[in-house]
Amino acid sequence: MSSKKTKLNIGSDFDGTIIDHSFQKIKLAKKYNYDLRPFETYSDIMKSIIPKDTAKEIQKSIYGELTLSSPITDFAKEVLEELTEIFNPIKIISRRGVYDNGPKYAIEWMRKYVIPPIKVEDVFFVLEDVEKDELAKKLKINVYIDDKESVLDKMPFVKYRFHFYPHGVDIKSKYPIVRSWREFLEICKKL
Ligand SMILES: [Mg+2]
Repeated sequence: MSSKKTKLNIGSDFDGTIIDHSFQKIKLAKKYNYDLRPFETYSDIMKSIIPKDTAKEIQKSIYGELTLSSPITDFAKEVLEELTEIFNPIKIISRRGVYDNGPKYAIEWMRKYVIPPIKVEDVFFVLEDVEKDELAKKLKINVYIDDKESVLDKMPFVKYRFHFYPHGVDIKSKYPIVRSWREFLEICKKL
């Protein structure tokens, strides 16, 4: 292990990055008579199909108790384990703080899937996207992965920002697009 590699302090978003809500979103959208294809569950695309208020309701539901019914994103567990072995402990920064019980259900889910390798004290909940950057600065995070470009835009402090987008359909992004956790692992190894 080179000393250069240990200098990476990796941070990750939670919703849509570590946890995969696409199945729940498809199910909930059906209740409102929308048939979403998996790639259309991606927040920015879903917003263009489903009216804002309905999308908000869906969002609120999946951040509640339904969290516990969503699976882990493919390969996230294995890759988080490997990243933890190679680099410093990984931090999770989530904006779930705004939702009632959002953090509670997230922690419960994480204990089932990613704690360990993630330590419970390395999980942070904030209320605003900008707080993600403040926290990243405090925690000296220099690599951050998030499924929202708008969040990455608000994190100028972070040197390497990656846009997690696990869908086959192409999108444009200001940041390097990462299609899977396995790809992210390879990228981190080369930083
Ligand atoms: Mg997210």
